[in-house]
Amino acid sequence: MEKEFFDSVIIGRGLAGLSSAIESKENKNTALFFLEKEKEPKANSFNAQGGIAAAINSNDSVEKHFNDTIKAGAGLCNQKIVKILVEKGKEKILELIDLGFEFDKENGVSFGLEAGHSEKRILHSKGDNIGRELTSFYLKLAKEKNIHFFPEKKLNELIIQKDSGKAVVFDDLLVEFNSLIFASGGYSSLYSKNTNKGKTKGEVNSIALKAGIELMDLEFEQFHPTTIKETNFLLSETLRGEGAFLVNDLNEKFMEKISGKDLATRDVVSVKVTEEIEKKRKVFLDCTKIKNFEERFPSIYLKLKEMKLNPELIEIEPAAHYSIGGIKIDLNSRTNLKNVFAAGECSCSGVHGANRLASNSLLEAVVFGSIAGKNAMQTKKNEKIKTEKINELIKTKNSFNSNFDFPLLQKLMWNYCGIKRNENELQKGLTKIKKMEKNNYTFLAEKIIESALNRKETRGTHFRTDFSEIKEKAEHTVIRK
Ligand SMILES: Cc1cc2nc3c(=O)[nH]c(=O)nc-3n(C[C@H](O)[C@H](O)[C@H](O)COP(=O)(O)OP(=O)(O)OC[C@H]3O[C@@H](n4cnc5c(N)ncnc54)[C@H](O)[C@@H]3O)c2cc1C
Repeated sequence: MEKEFFDSVIIGRGLAGLSSAIESKENKNTALFFLEKEKEPKANSFNAQGGIAAAINSNDSVEKHFNDTIKAGAGLCNQKIVKILVEKGKEKILELIDLGFEFDKENGVSFGLEAGHSEKRILHSKGDNIGRELTSFYLKLAKEKNIHFFPEKKLNELIIQKDSGKAVVFDDLLVEFNSLIFASGGYSSLYSKNTNKGKTKGEVNSIALKAGIELMDLEFEQFHPTTIKETNFLLSETLRGEGAFLVNDLNEKFMEKISGKDLATRDVVSVKVTEEIEKKRKVFLDCTKIKNFEERFPSIYLKLKEMKLNPELIEIEPAAHYSIGGIKIDLNSRTNLKNVFAAGECSCSGVHGANRLASNSLLEAVVFGSIAGKNAMQTKKNEKIKTEKINELIKTKNSFNSNFDFPLLQKLMWNYCGIKRNENELQKGLTKIKKMEKNNYTFLAEKIIESALNRKETRGTHFRTDFSEIKEKAEHTVIRK
């Protein structure tokens, strides 16, 4: 196996990885590894549609953004981290505008509205293409730095030698490092219905846990209420922010009776849509009130045209969308392991609590990616790995056997650990998954279900039909090796 050394190693070329990478210093040797091909903009970050939230509108304030984030988080947000998100987030957006990034304008910057926001604060770019525009902009900034990009490299293992070296292992390459940043995205792909189009499947969380890194709040998976039925194609919440509403085939606007109506938070809307579907109703997103659909939502419009669907009335269903849980980090994006950091969707700082506020995740990737990158630059040298022991230490060459039935795992997760959960179904799912091949995907799935079983309450995205109450004391679920 080939061997290399870099001062700083980053796993992931989404917004969080790139935001870390641009903090790299001239005198540091930084390498960034990712699954996609060099010219393939497929990380989830490139697909974000709605926008990025920041309190820069003159009617708005970081306090209001803070309060909305805390409210959506259902008692589980880490307030210090939320403060960093909204304050640093605003600074970062202003910095981006100074650097020449163009948000859509209409007499100044134009702001959208999404669920759970008390103000119009969602900045968008080229209509519904914020992800593509913002991530490409960061990619350009990163390319100006002295960074080594390694496409099509799948992380398989993290080796930690006690009191000495650390290394990451890919199929044909072992890389020693002084600092490591995980920016490897979420695990929504573990569900058969999910909005994540890229190659990210969450195995890095298993790799981290097996190496002794703590994970947190895995049971909180955010489901998005509106995807085009049977396609997993997301219909951004901004559509509802601009006048679209949900209606069933009996022409009932079932969200009308609920607090927040069509712009109630995603946890609430996903459960309501699921209940309609359970009653054998069809659910539609009625977009007749949206002005300039084609111009404002060009990608969605194109998709509907391709599928020959009527953009005014679209049949929808919910799908897994964003992993709130992940690698536990502190205010400085540090994990519990020295010189190892995490940022973006793979991480869990408590910033989203039990339910992420819409459009806060691109902001999270930008803010905490940058914090991780800055801190990684400060780390001192590790000891060298003891090479004679390396072969012993490389345990998993490839965590994915080509015969492994991944769609079955996805189906089990959707059926037994989906939007509405209970002890009986969760146990059934766990038993079935335990009978499958042991790999990093089934390992993570088991940890998610175990976390869901242990949280005996309904809070945010974790909806238990057998424990409908919320506990007075909000507690995180921390998982250790
Ligand atoms: C369709 C869609 C629309 C969205 N819209 C919005 C929105 O409007 N606003 C908002 O705030 N959020 C939105 N989100 C969520 C947001 O896009 C993500 O949370 C965010 O982009 C995650 O960024 P990231 O850098 O953490 O991870 P990602 O962008 O997912 O990148 C992960 C990277 O890790 C790499 N990786 C993973 N595993 C491995 C491995 N084993 N070895 C090597 N590399 C690995 C991948 O190759 C990839 O490069 C949306 C998500 C989706 C799916």
